[in-house]
Amino acid sequence: MTQSMQNNYIKLTISILLVTLSIHAKAVTEDQFRVHGLSSFKNNQAKMLESWLTQGVNATRATLGIYPTPLELHIYPKKSNQPVPWAYTQRNGKGSIHFHVDTRFGLTKFVNDWTIYHELAHMALPYLGPKYRWLSEGFASYMQYQIMAKSGVLKGTLEENYQHKIAPHLRWFNSNLTAASIAKRLMDNKQYPAAYWGGAYFFVEADKLLTLKHHTTLTHLITYYQDCCRKNDHKLTDIIRSLDNILNDTIFSDLLNQYESQPARELYPKVFNQ
Ligand SMILES: [Zn+2]
Repeated sequence: MTQSMQNNYIKLTISILLVTLSIHAKAVTEDQFRVHGLSSFKNNQAKMLESWLTQGVNATRATLGIYPTPLELHIYPKKSNQPVPWAYTQRNGKGSIHFHVDTRFGLTKFVNDWTIYHELAHMALPYLGPKYRWLSEGFASYMQYQIMAKSGVLKGTLEENYQHKIAPHLRWFNSNLTAASIAKRLMDNKQYPAAYWGGAYFFVEADKLLTLKHHTTLTHLITYYQDCCRKNDHKLTDIIRSLDNILNDTIFSDLLNQYESQPARELYPKVFNQ
């Protein structure tokens, strides 16, 4: 090989490497999420929103794993007294998340707001239907703080935050009715904080059992679940079966069964104590 052939060879190798790197970088970003609605915002606001969404997706990935389907994120301008006054998930087809945002708030206020972590957490599980909306909201509420704690934006400890949110609603579960029927009724009566945080207690219990029996955590299990099973699951019974199969145990079917057949006061403490 002559000197110039060698130089050309090196140049060619470098350019192939660069092409490979740029294709790879592009693929990773586009695989994770797509943003719709940025054109309704001024340039610098659109950039700030993109940074916020990227941070939210990365923080969620770090806690709950890489979702098998790319996230479709829609944003709309809305004047309010908070950065994200309203957000919801839509579950038809691949599913999408819709955020109404007030860009008069800065990036820090957006990143510290729990809404994005809650909505992104919903997508770790398939749609559970109206009967189990309390469980879906319980999951997203439990996970929003797990994601925030891991990414360093949660104020106070996880225990303090769960205590603060769950303790006021324990009185609803001091009853002979089943926990599932109470949580569903709270949801149907639009008593959302009680339904959400009463439902989140299911995952406090599940996490405790995972630590005790399997020396693992719910976030680790959900991360593994994204990889092995999420794509093939379509309803709650699928999820319960997948999680129990991963563990080779009956933790989740037993817990759901208790929620649906046992008096709630046998499952919920009178005083929250994690
Ligand atoms: Zn929710």
